[in-house]
Amino acid sequence: MAAYEYETHNYDVVVVGAGGSGLRATLGMAEQGLRTACVTKVFPTRSHTVAAQGGIAASLGNMGPDSWQWHMYDTIKGSDWLGDNDAMEYLAREAPKAVYELEHYGVPFSRTEEGKIYQRPFGGHTTEYGEGPPVQRTCAAADRTGHAILHTLYGQSLKHNAEFYIEYFAIDLIMSDDGQCQGVVCWKLDDGTMHVFNAKMVVLATGGYGRAFFSATSAHTCTGDGGGMVARAGLALQDMEFVQFHPTGIYGSGCLITEGARGEGGYLTNSEGERFMERYAPTYKDLASRDVVSRCMTMEIREGRGVGEHKDHIFLNLSHLPPEALHERLPGISESAKIFAGVDVTKEPIPVLPTVHYNMGGIPTNYHGEVINPAADNPDAIVPGLMAVGEAGSASVHGANRLGSNSLIDLVVFGRAAAIRAGQIIDPETENRAIPKAKIDAVFERFDKIRYADGGTPTAELRLEMQRTMQSDAAVFRTDKTLAEGVEKMTAVAAKLDDIKVTDRSLVWNSDLMETLELENLMPNALATIVGAEARKESRGAHAHEDYPDRDDKTWRKHSIMHVDGNKVDLTFRPVHMDPLTPEDQGGINLKKIAPKKRVY
Ligand SMILES: Cc1cc2nc3c(=O)[nH]c(=O)nc-3n(C[C@H](O)[C@H](O)[C@H](O)COP(=O)(O)OP(=O)(O)OC[C@H]3O[C@@H](n4cnc5c(N)ncnc54)[C@H](O)[C@@H]3O)c2cc1C
Repeated sequence: MAAYEYETHNYDVVVVGAGGSGLRATLGMAEQGLRTACVTKVFPTRSHTVAAQGGIAASLGNMGPDSWQWHMYDTIKGSDWLGDNDAMEYLAREAPKAVYELEHYGVPFSRTEEGKIYQRPFGGHTTEYGEGPPVQRTCAAADRTGHAILHTLYGQSLKHNAEFYIEYFAIDLIMSDDGQCQGVVCWKLDDGTMHVFNAKMVVLATGGYGRAFFSATSAHTCTGDGGGMVARAGLALQDMEFVQFHPTGIYGSGCLITEGARGEGGYLTNSEGERFMERYAPTYKDLASRDVVSRCMTMEIREGRGVGEHKDHIFLNLSHLPPEALHERLPGISESAKIFAGVDVTKEPIPVLPTVHYNMGGIPTNYHGEVINPAADNPDAIVPGLMAVGEAGSASVHGANRLGSNSLIDLVVFGRAAAIRAGQIIDPETENRAIPKAKIDAVFERFDKIRYADGGTPTAELRLEMQRTMQSDAAVFRTDKTLAEGVEKMTAVAAKLDDIKVTDRSLVWNSDLMETLELENLMPNALATIVGAEARKESRGAHAHEDYPDRDDKTWRKHSIMHVDGNKVDLTFRPVHMDPLTPEDQGGINLKKIAPKKRVY
């Protein structure tokens, strides 16, 4: 093996990722005077958080009565009773504080007439424990909320002297023999140098793994690198079978077409030109709930009535709407359709596909952001030196299904929580433990093997095979048969990593090598997803199983825990945390209110 020179950097904390969660953690750490580095493979303000438009949920009560208990209830119900009640209480209770902090940091929120933060309604957010009318809980900076948050947090982090390592790719974690995370090894993309970050705490804020599927609304950089690193370190992933789909992503690019398009009168058709939703949902038709529409579209495709050359997508028709209405109410959509599908919406339908939008599962943590690796004698065993926040983590506040605008708030609440915790447990006066050279060499050995991989399967080809398999067998339509076939196929696909071919051997701006490292990260995420889905014999939240249409709390109200080794997944389970943080008689939520019941809206 070629020897790799490297530079060593010592910090109290190294945060991997500069999306909303990574930046909020970085800022919180730096504010307390911890020596903090933030490593990111893309420029901070290009992280996927920048694409979030809708907003961020917090019970400020600016538009009418609201309370954190109501927000907590809605989150529990949204999670289909799979989230951890302590974490969900923490999210709802701390949300207003986290939003006011953002306001003070400088996020330009939209305002009401009186100058308060404006809040809009969002699906699933209600009053009176789901008994009252919808609530306006979602704070927004116009339709650029994620953009505004990222820019503000980046500026604030710089102000507090956090150090940024931009366009550095984290390859692997370094774990000591006694199970502590000691740091992370990174490859600097623009000059090919190698860097070892030795830290008392590593925070994974690497985002989701939408790109394990063929069609995803998330950026190409959302490749589950944190989950991949964790899996290789022998640690757990949790609840990976729960993947949220949006019915209308543009075919091919996955770019999101908002529900508003159907709200304005758009409708879906199959290859026979039929408005098939009338058959499945006679009352609400194209405006049935997201998961229902996605499932019906998938059924049409599976039965051979998809459109296009591969008969693998559906048409969204808007051309019957008056051009003025399209121009006024859906200008963004018309533009996206033109750019990403080459379609003039006044004349032609938009090719669409149910598209991966969010990963509920991820690296399991407690509500302080500390990573846990469940063991037989302790389901909540903490991994020292390692935290995970944002979409990469699973705290778990979204359980089996996330409510809209609850992700942005998750990013800042748990980014902040991680910083608070780190402040309590890190002593900046002590020296970092030395990292044995053999540990670093082991990372380079794997890197080098991939760099010189000379098999028969190019990265792009294997990635496409994985994405198509996941899209057809682990997407919206799930049966015993499709899942069993899917597990078999994915096990074979994952094994092909041994036959990967990398063409470019250089170390400078080598996108071929970087994409191969990303594929190595996507694969365990994908495999854990389909194995978890195959095992779960019930329907809950985003996991709708045709052969088991009901939720089964007796057997299945438990978290799935996946340890992935190569193309094998070891599946165990972990109990859901039922106890909220605050007892009822001290102002906590009424326990009767949060007892499981059927999730109907
Ligand atoms: C189109 C779209 C719209 C959305 N709208 C909303 C909304 O309105 N409201 C809402 O609540 N949620 C919304 N969501 C969900 C929400 O935006 C995301 O879940 C959230 O932004 C994820 O943030 P994050 O901090 O976890 O990661 P990201 O923002 O994805 O950032 C990941 C970071 O990790 C870094 N990274 C990853 N791997 C490596 C590596 N190997 N080495 C170094 N760095 C690495 C990247 O450089 C990046 O900085 C939306 C999502 C999408 C896709």
